[in-house]
Amino acid sequence: MMATRRALAALLLALALAGCGKSGSPPVKGPKAELLPHYAVAKDFSLPDSSVWRRAKNRGHLIVGAKEDQPYLGEKDPATGVYTGFDIEIAKMMSASLGFEPSTIQFKTIASANRETALQNGQIDYYVGTYTINDNRKKLVGFAGPYYMAGQGLLVRTDENGLTTPQDFDGKRVCSAAGSTPYQRMEKDYPKVDMVAYDTYSVCVDNLLTFQVDAVTTDDTILSGYAAKVPDELKVVGKPFSKEPYGIGVPKSDNALRFALDDAIEAHEKNGDWKKAYDATLGLSGRPPAPAPPIDRYPAS
Ligand code: GLU
Repeated sequence: MMATRRALAALLLALALAGCGKSGSPPVKGPKAELLPHYAVAKDFSLPDSSVWRRAKNRGHLIVGAKEDQPYLGEKDPATGVYTGFDIEIAKMMSASLGFEPSTIQFKTIASANRETALQNGQIDYYVGTYTINDNRKKLVGFAGPYYMAGQGLLVRTDENGLTTPQDFDGKRVCSAAGSTPYQRMEKDYPKVDMVAYDTYSVCVDNLLTFQVDAVTTDDTILSGYAAKVPDELKVVGKPFSKEPYGIGVPKSDNALRFALDDAIEAHEKNGDWKKAYDATLGLSGRPPAPAPPIDRYPAS
C-alpha cells in the first residue's frame, strides 16, 4: 500500500519535472517567464584573446553545458526542449555580455561526472550547472565567479524522523551523483554511510520515493527544489555541512573568457539582473535570498 503511494509520488515528481500539473496545467510553482529579465546584448563586443569566443563568433551562437533535471536551477521541458532556472538565467546573462543574443544559446545537458571532459574536448563553450569551484577541479578547468553560495544538505521522506546529520546515516543507504563534491565528501568524511551513485539526482530522488535509499545528499539548492515539487513526500533536514561556491566552468587555458565572465557576473549583480533572475527562479523554491558571494578573480596559472 505504502509502496504504491510512493510509486505514485515518483510519478508525480516525474510529471512535475516534466512541467505538467495535475490536469495538464502548468506547475503551481515554477519559473515565471513574464517575470524574467531581458538582458541587453553588448554591441560591438569583441574578445579576440579567447579561442572559445572566436569559435562561437564563427558559429554565430554559444553552446552551453547545463543540467536538465534540477528544479528552479536547470530544467528542460521535454515537450519543448526549453531550459529554465537560475543557472540558465546566469548562462543567458553571460551570453548577452559576450555579444550573443541569449535566445540563440544551444544548451547541452552534461552530467556532474562529465563536466571537465566536456570543457576539455570543446563540446561546450562554458558550463553553468551547480558547479562547485574547488582546487582539484581547477587543475582541469577554469572557473569564473562564484555567482552563488550553496551548502551540502540531506533530503529524506517526510515520514522519516530523527535523521538530520550525515552521521545519523551510518549503515544506511544514501544516494548522490557520481563525480559530485557531495558524493566525494561522504566517501571521505562519513565512510560508514553506504553510498549509492547515479548519474543524476532525479534518479536518486526516484530511489528515495520508492524506498531503495534512505536519503539523497547534494547541495541544499537542488534538494529544496525537489522538496518544493512534492512537499507531502520529501523534506530537507538539518543544517548545510559544506560550502559549495558555484562557478561558471570554462576551458582551463581560456583566461580571457574567464576574466570576461567575472566582469559580466559583477555587472549583472550591480544592475539588478541577478536579483530579478533569482526571484523569478530559485527564489520560488522558498529559499531565503542570500547575497551573491564576492568574485574570486584568481590569476592565470
Ligand atoms: N555542487 C556540487 C558539485 O559541483 C553538487 C552539484 C552537482 O553535482 O552539480 O559537485
